[in-house]
Formats: sequence, C-alpha cells, structure tokens
Amino acid sequence: MLARRHVSGGREFVILHDEARGETLELEAAAWAVLSCADGTRDVEGIIAAATRLGARTTASVVGELLAALAERDALVDGAPDHEPDVVRIRTRPARVLDEPVVALPGFRYACDGTGGCCRSYGSVLLTPGDRDRARAALPEHAIAGVPMTRWFTPDRGSAPTPLSVPVTVDGGCGFLGTDGLCEIHRKVGLEGKPRACSAFPVTACSDGVEVRVSAMPECACVLRPVEEGEGDPLGEGWQRGADVPPMLIIDTLPESIRVDASRTESPAWLRAAVSRTLRALTEAADLAQTCWQHADAWSRPKEASLGAYVEALGRKAKDAMRRRSTYVAADDWVLASMQWLVGTLHFLGEPALQAAAMEPTQATDAVELRYLQCVLWGYHGFGSRAAVDVMREHAIKIWIARAMAEVPLAPSTHAIPLATLNMLLRGHALSRAWES
Ligand code: SF4
Repeated sequence: MLARRHVSGGREFVILHDEARGETLELEAAAWAVLSCADGTRDVEGIIAAATRLGARTTASVVGELLAALAERDALVDGAPDHEPDVVRIRTRPARVLDEPVVALPGFRYACDGTGGCCRSYGSVLLTPGDRDRARAALPEHAIAGVPMTRWFTPDRGSAPTPLSVPVTVDGGCGFLGTDGLCEIHRKVGLEGKPRACSAFPVTACSDGVEVRVSAMPECACVLRPVEEGEGDPLGEGWQRGADVPPMLIIDTLPESIRVDASRTESPAWLRAAVSRTLRALTEAADLAQTCWQHADAWSRPKEASLGAYVEALGRKAKDAMRRRSTYVAADDWVLASMQWLVGTLHFLGEPALQAAAMEPTQATDAVELRYLQCVLWGYHGFGSRAAVDVMREHAIKIWIARAMAEVPLAPSTHAIPLATLNMLLRGHALSRAWES
C-alpha cells in the first residue's frame, strides 16, 4: 500500500494506492495522521495519544473503523517494521569503476526548457533522509500550498517511517515546484541542495567493465528534442574517470553474465560489441524500429514482429492507471492527459489494420527515434535486468506505438514528444510490466 499526500483545488488529502487490488482509497488528511501513528508500535490508546500530538484528535471507535476498513482489504500488517527508518544504503562504487574512463554519448547535447515538465511527470519523487533535511533547511518558512513542513513527506510505502519518502504533490506535480516552473529548493540554495535523484536527472551512467558510459533517460521531451549545432549542453562535461562522476549519480555496472534470451547468456564484452554494431547500423538505416527487431532476431531466434499482445496488455494497465488517477487529479492534469493520449492510441491499435499501418516501414530516419535509441543503447538501459532480445524488441514496439501516438490528436501539449511521454508513463506510472504480461 502506497500513501501519497496531495493538494488539489486547494484541498489536502491522502490517496492510498492498493497495488494488489489495483484500487485507490482517499483519506482525509486527519485520517492519514491517525493511520501514520498505527505503525505497529502502539495499541489503540497509544495511536490516539500520538495522533493527538500531531493535531488529529480522534476516538477509539474512529481508529477501530479505520483499521477495520483496511483489514477488510488485507492492508494491515502485524507488528512493528524491522527496517531502520533513517538509513539508506547507497551502492558503493567498485574500485575498478573509479579508474575507468568516462565516455559520454558521442555528439549528444540536450537543452532543458526549464518549465519543470519532469517535476510534473512522476507518481513518486523519492527522497532520502538527507534530501529531506536539506529541503527543510532550505525552505524553513515555506508552506506547500498551506501544508506545513511536518506534513511534507509520506513514507515510500506503508504507514511507518521509511528511509525513502515522497513529497506532497500540488495539482499533480511535485510540491516543491514553483509556479514559474523552477524548483523552490534549487532557487533558494542551488543545485547542491536539491534531492539527489533530481540533481542527477536525466543523466545515467553504466560501467561495462571497460568504460563508464554516460547517457540520458529518454523520458522528457527536452532529452529527445534535437538541438541545433552548438546549442544545448553535453552530458558529463569534464568527467574524465569514474572518480569524477558526482556522488549524486549512481554508476550502474553490467552483471558478469548478460541474459541474451531464455536459454543463452553472454559476457558484458559480447553486449558491448553487439550494441556497438546496432548503434552503427542505426546511423545507416531508414526504419529504426525494424532495425532493432532485426538485430534482436540476429542475437537469438527470428520472431515475427507483432504489436498485438503488448498493445492489449499495456492498454489494460494504462486504462486502469488512468481511471485511478482521474479520481484525484483535475481534468487538465498533465499526466492524466498523457494517459488519455496513450489509451486512445492503444484503442486504435486494437485494430489489426491500424497495427499494420503503424509498423509500415519508414523511408527516412526519424531524428527523435535515433536520439532515443542512442540514449538507451549507449547507456545499456535495461540490459542488466532483462533478456537482451526482450529489451531490443520492446524498443521496436515502443517506436511503433509512438508513431501511432503522433497520429492521434490527443497530445497534452504541442511540445509533447510521443516517445518521451510513453517512456515516462511506463517507468513513472508502473506500466512497465506490460512486456511480462
Ligand atoms: S524536488 Fe525540485 S527538482 Fe525535484 S521534482 Fe520537486 S520541484 Fe522538481
């Protein structure tokens, strides 16, 4: 169960996301205050006393009703949590990575438009205890849409304090986002004070045993929009070796054994060579989705390209996510509008003739698709955890869906880029399991 505090239309409330049932439950802020005291360390009297200290006066019968409603949903866990509430274990970088040369995606530059689109795009912005302390210190007098500092954060999951927590959202976006699109923490104390994940975004780093490859997450239009020669910023400027990469950025490492398909594994050196071949082929190919699929065929067994099962599974998940979000955000919410765009497109793609049209080979290279594939392949995104052929085939499918999205007039803004929106929804709104489905 995930609890997320929102302010929408000036009203403060908490949404409980019941992941197992795919349902949401809305609580008044005071009811959440009571529930946050039911952390397994108190009896009912203790919950009442602790909630009163938080300003939420309650009674035994109200506490009983609240707990009974959650018990009915199997959402209560007995006993106190066994995690340390303030300790985040950050992966330490292996010594060899510190000495490896850093190589940023060649020729890549991107221009952040500074409108805070990424701060409105994700369901949960995860903050460490240090991030929370810096935010409070940076904004001591600040109230987020009337919500005082004591209520800024909810646990990552469950009701007891957790090491990672999530800030309140205002009208669907991060509560720290100013009305002019700037982060209030950044405005007050600069980049150093920002949450670790926010200051690293959209940069990624992955060591393949030879070098640390620096790339970008293709979930924001600013990353995928091509920039004019000499404009925008390069990735990882001034980083020569792994030790130069700022600590806020996690350096992933490829596993010793790379899963190619269900029956074969290879070394990271194999993946490095295979990805290099694909990246070279992309610069000479016209249809990039087809090129991805063909390279997956060459890595494993040929498989007929098809969108059907994926479209069906993703359509089900996206429709459900859209239905749930529509119960607690305003009709003009950016993510809700993005979900409507995706759901509408997947609905059309249910027609076999329209699927075939979306997969029709293109005659010219699309600059956005090329940037997308260069980002994900150079950065080895997904290859550490999933079979390489699945990663490649899903890239091809995403490009086909994005081409169809471009034809459906439901984009939330004229600046939206279908591939960026699709990737943001997949990772940021729990739709990424569509492939496994
Ligand atoms: S903390 Fe700042 S940078 Fe991070 S999501 Fe919120 S507004 Fe954006």
